[in-house]
Amino acid sequence: MLRFEHDYTQLPEPLWRACEPAGVEAPALIAFNEALAAKLGAQDVPDDDTLARWFSGNEIPDGAYPIALGYAGHQFGNFVPQLGDGRALLLGEVVDAQGQRFDIQLKGSGRTPFSRGGDGRSPLGPVLREYLVSEFMAAAGVPTTRALAAVASNERVVRQLPEPGAVFTRVASSHVRVGTFQFAARHGEETTRALADYVIARHYPEARKQDDPYLALLACVTRRQAELVARWMSLGFIHGVMNTDNTSISGETIDYGPCAFMEQFDPRKVFSSIDEGGRYAFSNQPAVAQWNLARFAETLLPLMNVQGDEGVERAVEVIRGFEEHFEQTRQALRIAKLGLAEQAGETADMLMEELETLMHKGRMDMTATFDALTHYAIDFDETRRDALLALTQTPDALNDWLTRWGESELAESGARHAAMRRANPVIIPRNHRVKEAIDAAYEGDFTPFHTLLAVVSAPFNESTEARRLAAPATQSERVLRTFCGT
Ligand code: AMP
Ligand code: MG
Repeated sequence: MLRFEHDYTQLPEPLWRACEPAGVEAPALIAFNEALAAKLGAQDVPDDDTLARWFSGNEIPDGAYPIALGYAGHQFGNFVPQLGDGRALLLGEVVDAQGQRFDIQLKGSGRTPFSRGGDGRSPLGPVLREYLVSEFMAAAGVPTTRALAAVASNERVVRQLPEPGAVFTRVASSHVRVGTFQFAARHGEETTRALADYVIARHYPEARKQDDPYLALLACVTRRQAELVARWMSLGFIHGVMNTDNTSISGETIDYGPCAFMEQFDPRKVFSSIDEGGRYAFSNQPAVAQWNLARFAETLLPLMNVQGDEGVERAVEVIRGFEEHFEQTRQALRIAKLGLAEQAGETADMLMEELETLMHKGRMDMTATFDALTHYAIDFDETRRDALLALTQTPDALNDWLTRWGESELAESGARHAAMRRANPVIIPRNHRVKEAIDAAYEGDFTPFHTLLAVVSAPFNESTEARRLAAPATQSERVLRTFCGT
């Protein structure tokens, strides 16, 4: 069905190890992403049972050669020299019609040489969560790994309690992380150079033409990370576990463990149960991404044209460039979210900062606020204005802001609503809805999962179902904590 290639195995062996999946009991297909499979050039898609065997690791599809990848990582600031794919296996890569290479990886397929004390398994909950959130991100235009398949097993995976097991199939532009470079650096300069050359060829061929290709590589990754984090934040996304091993060199969102979307706007918001110090709080994300890039730069320093203090200074300068890229992307997104004219950058920054303060003070739901503003922008109708004002505890202040916004450099009325709609989703995968879908699946009912998946995969579409599932959690439905799920 897929034509597998194995580019990564050209790299020296400490970076990967061949490993067979363990297989699961009674694999049953939960979901298969046909649209994504078609994009990857899949032909002759077999029946569900065959898909379930392939995407659980029970049977190795033709041409696949499973390997586990090595990586290290700073977890909450502490360096762990050996992490690696402890419960994941790369089946191989496929090249799409545009010539872009993608990794196809099983997650939860059993122990590997990198499993340490872990069981190599994944419970069903995190599998469904990653499926829903990563497909939402892709549909919302955020660079991300994708979901190709989810397969249930009838094995129990023991965490706090025994839970049903499952295997997830992830598609990524590659699985090279900052932590992969940290791992390579520990194996010496030649290994790091091989990895860097591989990454340049696969992701950033333009860096090869620069006079310092490895410094240029740092610049490319810095830019992608800056753009990524700006996009996350425009949707209220909190990654939750921005360790260097979860920071993709391609600039995709990777690792959907404890991530969640902010509901009431609060810059200090944290969901993850293990993020006690708030290291990965909403507003810390740009600074953390820069910190991670500094760890990446340390691995590249020996390869750069200039060594010593001057080499470090050059790298620092490049990483500082993060701020400019971040602000540029953020400003463009702010213009779109507020329906302003293209050149109204400074106004967008000013209005958005004011609105963020109002959302925070008025305890406003971020997604609902921008959705209501998008509606109000259609024709400045009084009823729609009231609907927006009903979302805040400080309506007078918001009303003043709305007047200033209405008198600012708005985009032309014909284009305004559509531009705002593309930047302001009707629906995000809210914690309580994801939980509801998972709870039902644990009872054997996958209907809520499929319903939610359908609407979050088209997040800018208005429909009765989307409206129902888009509503913010009531007090009793609110999910305040998320877990890594490992
Ligand atoms: P994560 O929290 O998903 O970023 O995982 C951090 C590290 O722990 C990675 O090296 C994973 O492969 C490993 N890991 C997480 N869960 C398991 C598990 N159930 N079995 C083996 N390794 C695991
Ligand atoms: Mg991870």
